[in-house]
Amino acid sequence: MAFTLLYSDEQNSEPVVSTTQHQLFQSKYMVDVPIEFVLDQFNHTDLKQYFLRYNEAFDQLTNALSANDEDLISDVEPMILYGLLHKRYVQSDAGLSKMHKLVLNKTFGTCLRQGCDDCLLAPISVSDKPGIAPFCVYCCKCNCVYQFYGENEVDGSFFGTDLAHLLFLKYPNTEEKLKSQKDIDEEMVYCGKQLFGFEIAWDKMK
Ligand SMILES: [Zn+2]
Repeated sequence: MAFTLLYSDEQNSEPVVSTTQHQLFQSKYMVDVPIEFVLDQFNHTDLKQYFLRYNEAFDQLTNALSANDEDLISDVEPMILYGLLHKRYVQSDAGLSKMHKLVLNKTFGTCLRQGCDDCLLAPISVSDKPGIAPFCVYCCKCNCVYQFYGENEVDGSFFGTDLAHLLFLKYPNTEEKLKSQKDIDEEMVYCGKQLFGFEIAWDKMK
């Protein structure tokens, strides 16, 4: 399975190649994944299926991380590998803590919807597969997912579909307005139903 990170251009519907993937290490929307985490093969479980040349991608990624030089990466697959490991890292306590700071610093902005009172937005993906779509942002007050227009485009799978839920479970103060969902449009895309594939009973979490 090859990866060509093509996303639809909203203006002309023509697929465009994302040229901003080579900014992962410095992306303000991502946290640094420690090289120890990257080297731990346990964190690579089930990832090989996504790559044509997994070993080469792993070698190139670890070389670039060791030298702290992203220019040593000449292929998209090491980038994808780093991104998928980033998704797993931000699900750990250490990674989630770093991501929480980004959310509190309004890195992903605040909800502009009337009544949301600048509620903090958290990153979320509509898919866990790479190459489907860039990441979106989620507002826990209006319970809506919005497209994100940032400085550079990052694949949604590098955050995952569970990240916003995890943030709110780990740091409940972040979603203090979660209960005020009276005006939810049932037809809208929203998250909050599942975590790691299991149904969530939010009322029992409180
Ligand atoms: Zn909102």
